[in-house]
Amino acid sequence: MTTQTRTASGTQYEAVIGLEVHMQLKTRSKMFCGCDRAYFDTEPNTHVCPVCLGMPGTLPVINAEAVKYTMLAGLALGCTIPAFAKFDRKNYPYPDLMKGYQISQFDQPFCLGGELEIEVDGVRRAVQIERIHLEEDTARLLHRDNGIETYSLLDANRAGSALMELVTRPDMHSAAEAGAFLRALRQTMRYVGVADADMEKGGMRCDANVSVRPVGQEELGRKVEVKNMNSFRAVMRAIEFEIPRQIALIESGQRIVQETRGYVDATGETVSQRSKEEASDYRYFPEPDLPPFEVDPADTEALRATLPELPTARRERFEREYGLVADEARMLTESREGAEAFEEAVRLAGSEHAVAVAHWFSGDVARLLNTLGAEAELSDTKLTPAHIAELARLVAEKAVTAATAKEVLDIAFESGNLPTAIVDARGLRQVTDTGAIDAVAQTVIAANPKAVEDYRGGKQAAIGFLVGQVMREMKGRADANTAAETLRRYLDA
Ligand code: ADP
Ligand code: MG
Ligand code: ZN
Repeated sequence: MTTQTRTASGTQYEAVIGLEVHMQLKTRSKMFCGCDRAYFDTEPNTHVCPVCLGMPGTLPVINAEAVKYTMLAGLALGCTIPAFAKFDRKNYPYPDLMKGYQISQFDQPFCLGGELEIEVDGVRRAVQIERIHLEEDTARLLHRDNGIETYSLLDANRAGSALMELVTRPDMHSAAEAGAFLRALRQTMRYVGVADADMEKGGMRCDANVSVRPVGQEELGRKVEVKNMNSFRAVMRAIEFEIPRQIALIESGQRIVQETRGYVDATGETVSQRSKEEASDYRYFPEPDLPPFEVDPADTEALRATLPELPTARRERFEREYGLVADEARMLTESREGAEAFEEAVRLAGSEHAVAVAHWFSGDVARLLNTLGAEAELSDTKLTPAHIAELARLVAEKAVTAATAKEVLDIAFESGNLPTAIVDARGLRQVTDTGAIDAVAQTVIAANPKAVEDYRGGKQAAIGFLVGQVMREMKGRADANTAAETLRRYLDA
């Protein structure tokens, strides 16, 4: 993988990228009040109360579930959970900020350090994490234009929702690495069950900090922060736009101004929004309405013990335990639910059928799930692990041919009926009666003199055509190897 750019001047540059990622936590209620966590499709301003509307005189109460989820996220990423943590007030005036300040964490967050493994072009490496802190989300401004005037509407459903912010070190060097990091992060958060981390739905929001420097230079270049990206693709495109833009500026003798830029999806470009020099001073101070935290290491360890097996560990175990190749193990561990469905099917089928079960999941089952959407799971269909286990066994026992088994899966997908029941009801059992195969082979030979002549003339490939004809006659219910053997027996005689 090349992450360096050589320019006309001969200088070789490398990009340096750090990400700031906000993720909505899947808590039942908001961060400091009892309001239901609001979803995007809810009627505006229906999940609000005096606390999350920022009324004077109200007091926040810490959501213990949100603290636990943040610590779980940190533990999954190998962060340290410091013995002390506190909330701070971040002051800034903006219409979507109900109180005029946001309760966040400044210098003593819940999680410090940590790393997340990514893989780009077959190379695995750990990206270093700086910290994870907990804060409250803002309301949402909906900008409107009715043709006469432009105006903004305010939806406070999101205001006060629990939001976790993860900050990486400046430790990535390409758009591909940033994309891989966000994907791995989403996957891990979903495994742990603390966040859906869905960028398209706003459950995960990312700012990318990008700078460039000559290769070999220790000191970091001046960074630009890019905002407003709502898909993995957008983050990657924005970075791919920024890197050559910054290199060209430096090459033409200009200096990079530290600024915030917005990403424009229509063009894939970034545009200046404001320079950092005029950025507001947040005047952080410890939140006076909330007590600081003392974290008991024993509680942290108890929490760590509740973590599920994480994607990388599970993938490596699948390779070891079931003898799967890396790509297949990766595919089967993409989601925790999918991995669990696979293992349940192996348990039902018997571990000697693990590889066959894996092929079903990574092949035809994946094909069917894809027809329902990129993130569909087995539980979204009428299929269960028992269906896949039965299919694998039917094929292994030679009760059905591979071709019939695929057909049975499609029928099961539509009806939900179990494979054995489908096979029996439709008379799909494999023909093992060699007499029947003999008869069809002879008919096929008689009906296809050209192919027979080709085969006898030395064209081995002609047998494939004849086997196909036998299979067609027998509606896929003969074993292809037996058909080929039978044909050869007659042809070579
Ligand atoms: P700020 O105070 O501007 O928010 P921070 O030092 O807190 O800057 O870093 C914010 C994010 O920017 C982090 O993800 C960090 O890794 C990244 N970052 C910091 N300096 C650079 C740089 N020179 N190039 C690229 N990313 C950087
Ligand atoms: Mg920042
Ligand atoms: Zn509320």
